[in-house]
Amino acid sequence: MTEAAPPANFLHTIIADDLASGRRQQVVTRFPPEPNGYLHIGHAKSISVNFGLAEAFGGVCNLRFDDTNPEKEDQEFIDSIQQDIRWLGYQWAGEVHYASSYFQQLYDWAVHLVEQGHAYVCDLSADEAREYRGTLTEAGRNSPYRERSVAENLELLAAMKAGEFDDGAKVLRAKIDMAAPNMNLRDPIIYRIRKVRHHQTGDDWCIYPTYDFAHGQGDAIEGVTHSICTLEFEDHRPLYEWFLEHLPVEAAPRQYEFGRLNTSYTITSKRKLKQLVDDNVVAGWDDPRMPTIAGMRRRGYTPAALRKFCEMVGTTRGDGIVDVAMLEHAIRDDLNTNAPRAMCVLDPLKVVLVNYPEDQQQTLTVPSHPNRDDLGERELPFGRELMIDRDDFREEANKKYKRLVIGKRVRLRNACIIEAVEAIKDSEGNIVKVHCRMIEDTFGKDPADGVKAKGVIHWVAAHGGQRAELRIYDRLFNHEAPDKGSDDLMSYINPESLLVKQGCWIEPGLVDAAPESHFQFEREGYFVADRYDHSSDTPVFNLTIGLRDTWASAGS
Ligand code: ATP
Ligand code: MG
Repeated sequence: MTEAAPPANFLHTIIADDLASGRRQQVVTRFPPEPNGYLHIGHAKSISVNFGLAEAFGGVCNLRFDDTNPEKEDQEFIDSIQQDIRWLGYQWAGEVHYASSYFQQLYDWAVHLVEQGHAYVCDLSADEAREYRGTLTEAGRNSPYRERSVAENLELLAAMKAGEFDDGAKVLRAKIDMAAPNMNLRDPIIYRIRKVRHHQTGDDWCIYPTYDFAHGQGDAIEGVTHSICTLEFEDHRPLYEWFLEHLPVEAAPRQYEFGRLNTSYTITSKRKLKQLVDDNVVAGWDDPRMPTIAGMRRRGYTPAALRKFCEMVGTTRGDGIVDVAMLEHAIRDDLNTNAPRAMCVLDPLKVVLVNYPEDQQQTLTVPSHPNRDDLGERELPFGRELMIDRDDFREEANKKYKRLVIGKRVRLRNACIIEAVEAIKDSEGNIVKVHCRMIEDTFGKDPADGVKAKGVIHWVAAHGGQRAELRIYDRLFNHEAPDKGSDDLMSYINPESLLVKQGCWIEPGLVDAAPESHFQFEREGYFVADRYDHSSDTPVFNLTIGLRDTWASAGS
């Protein structure tokens, strides 16, 4: 991969200017996930932007759970989100923050707005409110409840808080402008009645602030300087600023928006990801086919590669779709440099070296990586019986086939040259083993007779090797834009996104591999020891990514 200068990051420029001009003395950002699902590749981008900018300018980044919507939220998500951020290599400043910790302050501010004549209790039903709201081309109409007195509003708000009304019976709205061209300013709702338990505040509240009423104020409370979000919040910015202007807050955070990261062949809507989990299309939020951070981790993606990818795609105000091959390229690039090499035979076929003494065995010492001496060496048992891949042998073949053929030579990777003599078959004609001849004195050398091997194949000795399960993963969707295709999302599921292969034969060093350790299985791909299921008794490896790089070879 060619190392180009990092792509432009307009937020970097804005912050550098703010500091240079003295408009800001320090940088405080925040990452504000709603704990209603696992984080995905898009969040990884947001994390790298928020934590990355704070890091770049010697500032801090807070983690704030935006937990204003208790029905969909869960402690499982709060835990997984923290784990994912740490795994990516970032640490938030101080304690974890929750929007719910500010509920009392937010309520007091709502009362303040009412007292100032800037908010009112509205009894319109949801349908009526929609009608009064107008359209993009038509101004809205004032609610009949808009001119309630301050005293009446205060009384009704207190009654809402005390649980005297049913869900949906009343809302508190900011009194702004029903004719504003920006629909977000047409008297937006700031409090709703929801008689549900909250995972943090229990039964303390039966009214909850809206996202818009919580977000900017949360930023102000925490002294956030640069509140960075995605473009869909651009139209909310005037409202964000309206609240800060009309409330007695000291800090003045500013909101900036950038384009969402989308990758091809991927969905990132939490609602749709949840559907995949709920419908058992995948084995959970951390299924290795999921674009979740937990899924990518289990698949064998690395934090360094994900961070690199987020940097490669840049941070702009454009919303585009990035080729998922670029992400895969970043993973492959990292693993190519850092993953030790190993040999694993996916579909074992026994080779018997007929001229190798029956009572003899030897151990070969070979490098773990072709150009990383620091990764050391490993030992490979070698003997009369070996396993090769069934695909690497044919009784007859044309010249293009550079593997093992009767009467032809092939080099065993890291070992000697062999020549196939005879295919041994069972009564039904299936090949059960291949008798071969080892060419003398060809460990690391060309043969004395000058007849070279055409190709190189991988192998594992029959003794010392062990069975393993390999989980061969492929893209979950076979449509470039699964949620924008003309059919149901489910019709684009790749039926071959998971193939489980039992009885693969691994070299002995892999048996004790730690869960989550990465390898390149030579000629097969990059694999990771499964985070949960791998053990020395039942080795399990997941295919992280194949060897062929479609992005780099496309000339990018
Ligand atoms: P949903 O998937 O339901 O739309 P969300 O992804 O917006 O929800 P949040 O928990 O609100 O979920 O996101 C937390 C932060 O991550 C927000 O600041 C949001 O802008 C950012 N974010 C979410 N998706 C992406 C994405 N695809 N690219 C970049 N940032 C994202
Ligand atoms: Mg959101």
